[in-house]
Amino acid sequence: MRRSVVAGNWKMHGSSASIEALLAAIGDSVANPGCDVIVSPPFPYLELVQRLLAGTAVSIAGQNCSEHAQGAHTGEVAADMLVDLGCEWVILGHSERRQAGESDEQVAAKAVAARGAGLKPILCVGETLDQRRAGEAQAVVTAQLRALAAQLTEGDVIAYEPVWAIGTGETATPEQAQEMHATIRAFLASIDPALAEATRVLYGGSVKADNAGALFEQVDIDGGLVGGASLKADEFGAIIAAAQD
Ligand code: PEP
Repeated sequence: MRRSVVAGNWKMHGSSASIEALLAAIGDSVANPGCDVIVSPPFPYLELVQRLLAGTAVSIAGQNCSEHAQGAHTGEVAADMLVDLGCEWVILGHSERRQAGESDEQVAAKAVAARGAGLKPILCVGETLDQRRAGEAQAVVTAQLRALAAQLTEGDVIAYEPVWAIGTGETATPEQAQEMHATIRAFLASIDPALAEATRVLYGGSVKADNAGALFEQVDIDGGLVGGASLKADEFGAIIAAAQD
């Protein structure tokens, strides 16, 4: 039995004041959550979030990390630094980063760096609308996974995020999502059946309180990577409630 995960990706949103208010408001939902809950703030707020979440069951994720351990890489953040600021996880290969030029090879290199620092990656894969319309969705996602195959271990989380459903209000139907999650699970089984059994595969793309239940009840969907709705305490709380094991 895989424990569900709900991860909130705050992207480039928030301020000290809004984050304090958000975390205070979600307090009850995460007191005894019954699933793993992760929040992923922008880098400058990691220390604040670490302080505010001390003693709670909520874990923290970086939104990205460098593939380099340290050095002359202005503007980059090393995996070790994320660990230093209380992160247990890091989101890698988010489509917003892939659209900005991040390659499969870079995502794989970042996964190596993250693991080396002791971070657990949340590895994002997903197809664009054009790729889906061209009937290439399964091939695209499988190719993204293949690039990561050598890095995958049992503690990882994979997030299937169809690019056309991120921040658009457009959600994959539970059946569309389940179909891709089954493909991902089959790919993992081709590497190692135990890996397929243990890996949590999250759905991401306009998850909200009113669609989370139908998505999470699919056999291969183990929770959600949530963007916009993770910034609203009532929505995020309801999504966490929908993911109870
Ligand atoms: C995301 O940022 O990973 C995401 C899925 O965003 P949204 O829930 O807003 O579509």
